[in-house]
Amino acid sequence: MLRENGPLTRQRLQAFLGLSRATLVERLDTLTRLRMVRTAGHDASSGGRRAALLEADRTSRVAVVAWLGASHVSVGVADLAGTVLTVHTERLPLGHTPADVVPWLVDTARGQLTGTGRGGDLAAVGLAVPGQIDQETGISITPPTMTAWRDHPLRDGLADGLGVDVLLENDANALAYGEYLAAGSRRSTVLGVAVGTGIGAGVVIGGRPHRGATGCAGEIGHIRIEDHDERCTCGRRGCVAALASGKALIRQLRGDGVRSLPDVIRRVESGDPHAVALATDAGRLVGTVLATVVTILNPHVVRVGGEIGGLAPFRTGLAETLTQQAHEVAATGLDVGPAVLGEQAPLVGMAGLAAEAVFAPDAIDRLAARA
Ligand SMILES: [Zn+2]
Repeated sequence: MLRENGPLTRQRLQAFLGLSRATLVERLDTLTRLRMVRTAGHDASSGGRRAALLEADRTSRVAVVAWLGASHVSVGVADLAGTVLTVHTERLPLGHTPADVVPWLVDTARGQLTGTGRGGDLAAVGLAVPGQIDQETGISITPPTMTAWRDHPLRDGLADGLGVDVLLENDANALAYGEYLAAGSRRSTVLGVAVGTGIGAGVVIGGRPHRGATGCAGEIGHIRIEDHDERCTCGRRGCVAALASGKALIRQLRGDGVRSLPDVIRRVESGDPHAVALATDAGRLVGTVLATVVTILNPHVVRVGGEIGGLAPFRTGLAETLTQQAHEVAATGLDVGPAVLGEQAPLVGMAGLAAEAVFAPDAIDRLAARA
C-alpha cells in the first residue's frame, strides 16, 4: 500500500487496509526496524496536530543487478528504487563459458559493494539472461549462441557467491520491466524488444512480466519469415534472427571486413551506405514480426533496446513497417521508441523485480523472523 499510494498517514493507511490499530502498529514497527518504511515529513493538510507521513524506504537496501548476453556482461549495484549506483560492462568473446564469467561476476559485484559502501545493505541479486528460464531449478535454457551455459546452475552459483537470493529473468522481459517502470503508469502494457547478437522480446502486462506457460513468451527471434531459407543457429531456416540479428549483420557485412558486433555498429554509425541499408532492412524484418505481436497484444508502448536496436536506421525501418503493418487501431497512438533507459533498461528492470521480491509480504516475514 505504501509503495503504491504512499506517503500516507497512519490513520489513512489503517482506513485503506482495514486493520486494527494494534496490528498496524506492530507491522509498522517491524517494517521500520527492517528499514523498509520511514517517515517522510508531516501531513500539512490536516491542521491541528500534524500527523507523520509514512513511505516505503526504497533506498536503504540494494541489489546486485547484472545482464549477461552472448557478447557482453554488465554488472552493477542498484537501490530498490531502481537507481543504478555503479555499473561495469565487459565485452565477451562469443562462446564464453560459466567458468570464464561467473567468478568474475561475483568478484566484480563484491568490489562494487565495497566501493559504494553498501555491502551491508545487499538484499538480492537480479540477473537478466537471454532465453528461457526454468524458475524452479534456476537454470537458464540459453539460446544457441550460448551453448556452454546450457544446464548450468546459474542461480545457485550466484547465491553461493553473494549470499542472498538470486532472481533470474529473461533479458527482454527485464528490459520491458525497466521501461515499464520508466513509463510511470502502472496500467501500461509495455512491449520491450532487445536486438543484439540475437533477437528477443518481452512484455509486461498488469505490472508483471508475462512469461507464458513454459517461459518462452516473446521469443520472437525464431519466428519464420516467408521466402527466406537462411540457416539459423536454432537449426531451422528462415528465422528472423538468421536475417536481422547482430549475428546476421556480421555475416552479411563479412565481405566488407566486419568481424564483430562493435564493427557493425561502427559501420552503421559512420554512415557506410551498405551497412546502413542492411540495418534498415533488418529493422523492417523485425518490424514485420512486431506488427503481428502488436496486433495481438495491443500495447501502449514499444521500446527497442540492445546494441543493434540502438541504431537509428534499424529503428527507422522497424517503426515504419510496424506502423504500416499492425492493425490500424493498435498502431494508432502507439508509442514506439528507443529504450528511454538505454543500455541500463534490463538492469533497472532487475532492480525493480528485486524490489518486488524483497517487499513481498512473505519475504518480509522471513526477514523479520531472522532479525
Ligand atoms: Zn531460429
